[in-house]
Amino acid sequence: MKKKIALVTGANKGIGKKISIELMNSGIYVIGTATTEVGINNIKKKLKNQGTSILINFIDISITKKTIKKLINKYKTIDIFVHNAGIINDNLLITMPDIKWNHVIDVNLSSIFYITKIIIPAMIKQKYGRIIVISSIISCIGQKGQTNYAASKSGLIGFSKSLALEVASRGITVNLVSPGYILTDMTRKILSSKKKEILNKIPMERFGTPQDVANVVSFLSSKQSSYITGQNIHVNGGMYVDLAT
Ligand code: NAD
Repeated sequence: MKKKIALVTGANKGIGKKISIELMNSGIYVIGTATTEVGINNIKKKLKNQGTSILINFIDISITKKTIKKLINKYKTIDIFVHNAGIINDNLLITMPDIKWNHVIDVNLSSIFYITKIIIPAMIKQKYGRIIVISSIISCIGQKGQTNYAASKSGLIGFSKSLALEVASRGITVNLVSPGYILTDMTRKILSSKKKEILNKIPMERFGTPQDVANVVSFLSSKQSSYITGQNIHVNGGMYVDLAT
C-alpha cells in the first residue's frame, strides 16, 4: 500500500519536530518545512529516508505558493497537512508597529489560506485528507501584549471550523490542537523567568512537552479519528476548561 504523505510546517524544532517524528514512526512519509538551510538539513537528518524537507518562509507569499505548487506537482497529493509554524512578536497594542501586526498575521494565519487552496483539490479528488492546525490557548483566553498573536490564532479557529464544514462530505477532516504552555524555544524565556507564577495556573502542575501535542496530532492524522471534524482539542494540563471550544 502507498505510504501516506504529510506536510508539516515548521518541522525543524519544538512542537513541529516532535510531530514529524511521531508521524514518521507511524509509517507516514513526512515533508517538513524550515526557514533556513540549517533547519532543512536538521529535518533531513531526523527523517532519514522516511521523509524530506523544503525551505519555505511565509513572509514571501509568492515563493510560498510556488514551492507548494511544485510539491503538489511532484507528489500529486498531500494526505495530511499539519499547519504548525508560528511566531510571536509581542507589544502592547498602543505602541505596536504595523510591521509586528502584519508579520504575525502573515506567518501564523494568512499562510494557511494560500497553502490549503493549493493542496485541497487533490484531497477532494481522492476523497481523503487530514488537516490539523496548531492554534493556542491564547486564542481563547487572550494575553496582554499579544493582540497580534491572539488574533492570528483565533483566526485559525474560524478558518478551520468553516473549512471543516466545506469539505466534510469529501472525506476530509479539519481539526485544531490548542497547546497551553509547552517547553520550546518560543516559551523557554518566559517559562524560566515566571515559572512559579505560570505553574500556579496549571492544575497538573507541569508545563507541557512537544510530545504531549504530537500525540494528539498523531491521533487526528489517523484513520481512528475519521468521525471527528471541526474540533479544537486543548492540550494544557487543565489550565483552560470550557464547555464550548
Ligand atoms: P518554535 O519557535 O520552536 O518553532 C516555530 C516554528 O515555526 C519553527 O520550526 C520555524 O521554522 C517556523 N517558522 C518561524 N517563522 C516562520 C516563517 N516566517 N515562515 C515559515 N515558518 C516559520 O515554536 P513552538 O513552540 O514549537 O511552536 C509551534 C507552534 O505551536 C506555533 O504555531 C505556536 O504558536 C504554537 N504554540 C506553542 C506554544 C508553546 O507553549 N510553545 C503554545 C501554544 C501554541
